[in-house]
Amino acid sequence: MNDTIKYQLDETRIPRFWYNIAADLPSAPPPVLHPGTLKPVTASDLSALFTDALIEQEVSTEREIEIPEPVRDIYRQWRPTPLYRARRLEQALGTPAKIYYKYEGVSPAGSHKPNTAVAQAFYNQQAGIRRLTTETGAGQWGSSLAFAGALFGIDVQVFMVRVSYDQKPYRRALMEAYGARCLASPSNETVAGRDLLAANPAHPGSLGIAISEAVELAAQRSDTKYALGSVLNHVLLHQTIVGKEAMAQLDMAGDYPDVIVACTGGGSNFAGIAFPFLGEQLRGGQRVRVVAVEPAACPSLTRGKYAYDFGDTAHLTPLTKMHTLGSSFTPPGFHAGGLRYHGMAPLVSHLKELGLIEAIACTQLDCFDAGLRFARAEGIVPAPEATHAVRGAIMEAMRCKIEGKAQTILFNLCGHGHFDMQAYIDYLGGKLVDRSYDEAELAMALAGLPSVSA
Ligand SMILES: *Cc1c(COP(=O)(O)O)cnc(C)c1O
Repeated sequence: MNDTIKYQLDETRIPRFWYNIAADLPSAPPPVLHPGTLKPVTASDLSALFTDALIEQEVSTEREIEIPEPVRDIYRQWRPTPLYRARRLEQALGTPAKIYYKYEGVSPAGSHKPNTAVAQAFYNQQAGIRRLTTETGAGQWGSSLAFAGALFGIDVQVFMVRVSYDQKPYRRALMEAYGARCLASPSNETVAGRDLLAANPAHPGSLGIAISEAVELAAQRSDTKYALGSVLNHVLLHQTIVGKEAMAQLDMAGDYPDVIVACTGGGSNFAGIAFPFLGEQLRGGQRVRVVAVEPAACPSLTRGKYAYDFGDTAHLTPLTKMHTLGSSFTPPGFHAGGLRYHGMAPLVSHLKELGLIEAIACTQLDCFDAGLRFARAEGIVPAPEATHAVRGAIMEAMRCKIEGKAQTILFNLCGHGHFDMQAYIDYLGGKLVDRSYDEAELAMALAGLPSVSA
C-alpha cells in the first residue's frame, strides 16, 4: 500500500515560469482607474511607485512569465516546498477524503510572502532602486521584504500598524534583525500620518493608513519605490509558483484535487495555490472547486460590495474594482492580522463574479479550534491566518464523510504560527471572543465609496 506522507521535489524542479491567469480568463477584469481623472491608469501613472518590470507584469496577458535565474537561485534555499498528505488528520476526522497540504512555512520568514518579496527586491535592484517602503499588519510581509532587501542590498522602511507594533515585538525584531527600519503607523514622517496623530495621538492605525504613509514616501523620491505584499496582479503572479509545484507533487502522488482551499486576506496565497489549477480548467482541463476562506470579522468576499474603491485610507492609490468593505472600514480586533484588509485582489474578485470560485467566512474561535486539531495530528502550529484554510479543509473533509465521497482536498498551509503564540495563549486561556463587524460602521464605510460610473 502507498502510504507516502511527503512529496518532495529536488531543487532542479523549481518552476522556470510563473503562471499568469490573465491569459486564460473568459473576460478581462475591469480597468484600474486613476484616482484623480477616473480614467484607466497608464504605465507612467504607476511608475512613481513601481519599477517598469513589475508594471509590465501587472498588465501582462502572457501566460508564462520567466522567473529570473537570480530569483530561482534564492528560492532554492527553501523551494520546492513540501507537499504533505495529512494522513493522521484524515484518521482523526474519520474521513474518506484525501487531504493534502502545501507547506509554505519553511521559508526564512515563515510564510509564502518571500516568494514575491524576493522577486520584487530583485527587479528593484535591477532598476537601481536604493530604498523600498511598505506597510505591514501582523509583520509577516514586513519581515519578508526586510529579508529580501537584505539579500539585494536595498534599504527597507516598514510602516507597521501601531496596534501590531505594540503587540508583536518579535516580528519587529525580526525586521530589524534583517536590517530594516520599522516605524509605528501612523507616524510623524508623513503628512498622512501627522494629520491622523494630530487628531488622535494614540491612533491604533490600520493597513489602509500604513499603505498611505508608504506610498507617500515612495512617491517623493526617485531612488525609492513602494512594495505591496498582496492584492496586485504581479504579487499574485509571483505566488503561482506554489500551485505549479503542488501540481507536480500531486502528479507524483497520482492525484488531482477535487477541491482547493486557501485563506484570503488580500488574495495572494489563495491565488498562488489555485490559479494554476483554475488555468487548467479554463483551458478545458479538469474542473476543480476552489474555496476562499475569510474571517467573519473582515468578510470582503462574502459581505463586501463589488465596486471601485481605493486601496488606502488617504486615497493616494489608484481605484480598483474589487470586493470591498470600504477603505475607511476598520475591522474589529482579531488575531489573524494578515486577513484584516478592507479589499480583495481585483483578480480574485473578478473570478468570484464569474462564478469560478466560492467563498465562505469563518469565526476565529472555529479557526483556532481547527488549528489545534491540525497541530495535534500533524505537528505544525499554523499561523492564525492559515487556521482559516485548515478550518475550510476540515469542513470539506467532513462533508466528504457525510456524503461518503473519497474526494481529494488540497489546501495551502501558508505559514507557521511561531511568532503568533500569544494568540494561542489567548485562545487556550479562553480570552478570545468572536466579534463580528459593526453593521453600522460597515454601512457608513460603504456609503463613502467613490462614485464611479464605469
Ligand atoms: C499575509 C498573510 C496572509 C494574507 O495575505 P494573502 O495575500 O491573502 O495571502 C495569509 N497568511 C499568511 C501566513 C500571511 O502572512
